Amino acid sequence: MTEHAGTNGGDRPLRIAIVGAGPAGIYAADALMKSDVEASIDLYERMPAPFGLIRYGVAPDHPRIKGIITALHKVLDKPQVRLLGNIDYGTDIDLDDLRRFYDAVIFSTGANADRVLGVPGIDLDGSYGAADFVSWYDGHPDVPREWPLDAEKVAVLGVGNVALDVARVLAKTGDELLPTEIPPNVYEGLKQNKALEVHVFGRRGPAQAKFTPLELRELDHSPNIEVIVDPEDIDYDEGSEAARRNSKQVDMVCNTLEQWAIRDVGDRQHKLFLHFFESPAEVLGADGKVAGLRTERTTLDGTGNVKGTGNHKDWDVQAIYRAVGYLSQNIPALPFDEQAGTVPNEAGRVLLNDSADTPAERFLPQTYVTGWIKRGPVGLIGHTKGDANETIACLLDDASAFTPAAEPDPEAVVKFLEDKGIPFTTWAGWYRLDAHERSLGEPEGRERVKVVEREDMLRASEPNKV
Ligand SMILES: Cc1cc2nc3c(=O)[nH]c(=O)nc-3n(C[C@H](O)[C@H](O)[C@H](O)COP(=O)(O)OP(=O)(O)OC[C@H]3O[C@@H](n4cnc5c(N)ncnc54)[C@H](O)[C@@H]3O)c2cc1C
Repeated sequence: MTEHAGTNGGDRPLRIAIVGAGPAGIYAADALMKSDVEASIDLYERMPAPFGLIRYGVAPDHPRIKGIITALHKVLDKPQVRLLGNIDYGTDIDLDDLRRFYDAVIFSTGANADRVLGVPGIDLDGSYGAADFVSWYDGHPDVPREWPLDAEKVAVLGVGNVALDVARVLAKTGDELLPTEIPPNVYEGLKQNKALEVHVFGRRGPAQAKFTPLELRELDHSPNIEVIVDPEDIDYDEGSEAARRNSKQVDMVCNTLEQWAIRDVGDRQHKLFLHFFESPAEVLGADGKVAGLRTERTTLDGTGNVKGTGNHKDWDVQAIYRAVGYLSQNIPALPFDEQAGTVPNEAGRVLLNDSADTPAERFLPQTYVTGWIKRGPVGLIGHTKGDANETIACLLDDASAFTPAAEPDPEAVVKFLEDKGIPFTTWAGWYRLDAHERSLGEPEGRERVKVVEREDMLRASEPNKV
C-alpha cells in the first residue's frame, strides 16, 4: 500500500469524494486510479443512475454516443470506486460531512438548466427551454411526463448542437424514434406531435454557427425531414473567411450549408429550415400564448460579428424552443460566478480570493472542480477527460499538505447515510437497473427502454444493497 503523505504518516489510500457521476466525475476517478497514488473513491450522484448528460442529455437517436457508457463502465467496475447514487449534495449531505469522511472533495456537478434569453414575450405560454424538453424526451424523472406538441410551426432559437438535437427530435416522427431507448410516455407524446415546419434561427452567419459538421449532416439522413437553407443566408465577410481558413470544422459546416442552399427542395413530409442573420427581437403573443416570432435581419460587420439592419420580419410559429446554452447551478458552500455559471477556479483548485498570494488564503482547501462546472457548459464528452487530468494533477500536487479526514474508514460514511435513512443506490444497483431496462426493450428488439419514474428506478436498483 502506498503511504499517503498528509495522514500523519498513515498507511492508507487517499480518500476522495467526487460529487456528480457524469463523464467529468468518472474521468476524474479514472485519472486518480491511473496515478501512482493509491486512492479509494466514492462517486456521489443525485440521480439513482450514473452517467449525467450521457443519459439525460445526449439525444436518444445517438446510440453511438450513448455507447460511451460502456467505456465508463470499466472505471466504475474497479474495486477502488464506489457509486453512491440518489444522494443530493446540499440536501442529503454537505461539505462539512464530506470533510469528515474524505481527504479531498471534487465537484463535477455539470449543468442542467437553460441560460436566460432576454427577449420580450419570452415567458409566454408555448416558449420552452431546450434543457426542459431534452429532459422530457430523455426520460428524466424530475420533469412532467407530458409535453405539449400541438404547434404545427415551431421556432428553435440557437445554432449549436443542442438546437439541432431539439429541431431533429421535433421534426422526426414518433415511429422513427421508436427503436431508440425512449420511454413509452415519450413515444406516445411524439406520436401526437403536430409539427410540420421547424425553423432554426441564428443571429449570425453560417461561419459563426456552433454545430459540428457530423451533427449538421445527420439532419439530412431522416427520410421524413427536408432540410432547407435560403441562398440569401449564405454570406461571409473577412472575419468569416478567416474562421473558415482556421478551422476545418467551420469550413465543413459552411460547405454543407452551401450545398443545401443550391439544391432543389424535395417532398419529404417535414420541413426543417435553417435561417441565418435573423436575430430574435420579440416573441409575439395572443391570449398569453406564443403566436409568432419577430426577428431583425442582421448583417456582417467585417469581423465576423453582426449589426442590426432595422428590418424586421414576423414568422408564423406557435411554439418557441430556446437553445441558447445550458447553465450550471450554484453549489452550496462553494463560491459561484453567476455570470459565467461556473465555480471560480485555477486549473481545478477552487478559488476563494483572487488577490491572495498564499495558497492557504487563495484556495478553498482540499476542494476541486472538473467538467462543465469548472469550464462552463461547452464542449463534448471527450473534452471532460482533459479537464479531469488537469484537476487531478493539482490534487496530487497538493496531497502531501492535506489535513487528513477524521473518519476515513469507507464504512463510516455508509453508516452515516444509513443512519439518515437515505435509500442510496450502488454500482451493483445500476447493473440491476440496466438489466431491467434491457429486458423491457428485448421483446421489441430494442436495446433498452428507459425507466423514468424515480421510484421505479429505485425499485429496480434495490437501494442500499451492494
Ligand atoms: C442536450 C445535450 C446533448 C449533448 N450531446 C452530446 C453528444 O451527442 N456528444 C457529446 O460528446 N457531447 C454531448 N453533449 C455534451 C456532454 O453531455 C457534456 O460535455 C458532458 O456531459 C459534461 O460532463 P459533466 O460531467 O461535466 O456534466 P454532466 O454530464 O451534467 O454530469 C453532472 C452530474 O452531476 C450530478 N449532480 C449535479 N448536482 C448534483 C448534486 N447536488 N448532488 C449530486 N449529484 C449532482 C448530475 O445529476 C449529473 O449526473 C451534450 C450536451 C447536452 C446538454
